[in-house]
Amino acid sequence: MLKLDQHPSGRHFLHIPGPSPVPARVLRAISYQTIDHRGPEFGELGLKLLSGMQTIFKTKHPVIIYPSSGTGAWEGALVNTLSAGDLVLMYETGHFATLWNKLAIRLGIKTEFVGMPGAEGWRHGVDAAKIEERLKADTNHQIKAVCVVHNETSTGVTSNIAAVRKAIDAAKHPALLMVDTISGLASADYRHDEWGVDVTVSGSQKGLMLPPGIGFNAISPKAIEASKKATLPKAYWAWDEILESNKTGYWPSTPATNLLYGLHEAIDMILAEGLDNVFARHQHLAKACRAAVEAWGLEVQCKDPAVYSPVLTGVRTPQGVDADALRKVIFERYNLSLGTGLGKAKGQLFRIGHLGDCNELSLLAAISGCEMGMNRFGIKLKGSGVLAAQEVLQ
Ligand code: PLP
Repeated sequence: MLKLDQHPSGRHFLHIPGPSPVPARVLRAISYQTIDHRGPEFGELGLKLLSGMQTIFKTKHPVIIYPSSGTGAWEGALVNTLSAGDLVLMYETGHFATLWNKLAIRLGIKTEFVGMPGAEGWRHGVDAAKIEERLKADTNHQIKAVCVVHNETSTGVTSNIAAVRKAIDAAKHPALLMVDTISGLASADYRHDEWGVDVTVSGSQKGLMLPPGIGFNAISPKAIEASKKATLPKAYWAWDEILESNKTGYWPSTPATNLLYGLHEAIDMILAEGLDNVFARHQHLAKACRAAVEAWGLEVQCKDPAVYSPVLTGVRTPQGVDADALRKVIFERYNLSLGTGLGKAKGQLFRIGHLGDCNELSLLAAISGCEMGMNRFGIKLKGSGVLAAQEVLQ
């Protein structure tokens, strides 16, 4: 059993699907002296970050940066655009879609939580046809927004957001489109403007390779218009004051200065690699990971190859094998952290994160740790996932 007061040799292998490993460059930047957030240097940093984040979200419109977790950014999206009693269409893809739905209800928003019934819904992406059908039936436009999760971190499914936009347009419906890409941004292809998204919600601790603590709302002109009429109570999350301060690179309250140094470094690293190369690297690693799962004779949680996540792979354990007991063995013996099964998927799967600062050898180490752990646990594997992943990576 690892104890916090003991130092295990070698590094920890953090392969949960976020927080992801923070590169040394980013950690060093975070350790710089904290400066005056109202001083002259800060405004320059703020303007660079706001513009850098527009490039990452692929938007020409404003990006709100909150000192918050992703959950705060979810709340920011809803309270700025909606009023109490508004009806919102939410799509159940997994645990995080479920949590966003619950949060909306707690805020006094009415929701319709649609999706595939039962456990199956957690193995597929958003069905845009279902959204189109529901919006077409909503002839007096009661539905004010459609909310979907782009990369469902609890299952490893990346939904097609362009198809959701198309569905809303085909229904000629004015609902706002809000998308959670907390675990997709800077790992999976994402295009805020091109896909006509009104509010994109994201966070720092996944593809952006930062520690947790920054939340984002990328907002369209239509979302800003909606925010002028929305009456849900808001103060800390209100966009208007933030947008005003951001004009000169500042924030109305104290920003997370040191995390912003890290964000500056991370944006530089991502843009130096090139967004398309970052996306291709994630696809390549994900393909190798799925090859390993297949070689083991296990099932990937996502059933539809068109929406396999490049960020993480959900691996279903054989019937009767408690995935959390297995994870415990792997953590204690190999110092490797894997994601747990969440909500409805508790105990049925483990999740291998291959996002952010991840490369071929770090993925192979994780796959190897899983394989040795499963052998130790007495799971009968069909073959070697390590060899299968190597085949793909070579
Ligand atoms: N949405 C998704 C897709 C997530 O993966 C997470 C966290 O993992 C959240 C929302 C919630 O974000 P946070 O835990 O940072 O509040």
